[in-house]
Amino acid sequence: MTKMTKKARIERAREIIDRNDYGIPFNDDDLAEFSIVTGCELRYACRAIDPHYATNDRHVVVLAYDWVEPQGWSWRKAIQIGQEDIAQHIRARYNQVMRDAIREQMIEFSKTAEKACEKCATTELLTVDHAWPPFSSLASEYLSEVGALQIEEHEGSGFKFSNKEDERRWQDYHMVRAKLGILCRSCNSKKGARPAV
Ligand SMILES: [Zn+2]
Repeated sequence: MTKMTKKARIERAREIIDRNDYGIPFNDDDLAEFSIVTGCELRYACRAIDPHYATNDRHVVVLAYDWVEPQGWSWRKAIQIGQEDIAQHIRARYNQVMRDAIREQMIEFSKTAEKACEKCATTELLTVDHAWPPFSSLASEYLSEVGALQIEEHEGSGFKFSNKEDERRWQDYHMVRAKLGILCRSCNSKKGARPAV
């Protein structure tokens, strides 16, 4: 089943949707099969009217990823780009949310830190650096502890934590574990890591 071509997956997905009525959740068998052909673990799926394209008669709302409420979902896109890419996409989103949430800590650190690069002592083009561990390791550790993040999109400013307690929990985690330092841009890029924030 997992060896199915994308074309075959799309055909199968259509069949599943077509045999379901609007507003009636997929039964367990259809849900399981729909999960397999789309490559995404779904906890709920239901055929629904597409609010954007009235002519689309294969619109579904699903519970996927860490969603709490069923949302409209492009099963075609899921099949087209493949689940691995979706996981990376979500990870990139988490990354943005987590970096934004600790931006203030980085700024606070830079206010009190010595205004010179720790490597070459220049006082030009200084950046706050995650001396150890790298930001990506901290983020991964945190995610493996808490699992999925609840995030939501804010108009014009990207994604944010859905609630303040979750954001605070990550900020506290970061505050305790991150060792920050001051590097100039040149030393920071030579370090082979991405600029801190
Ligand atoms: Zn330097």
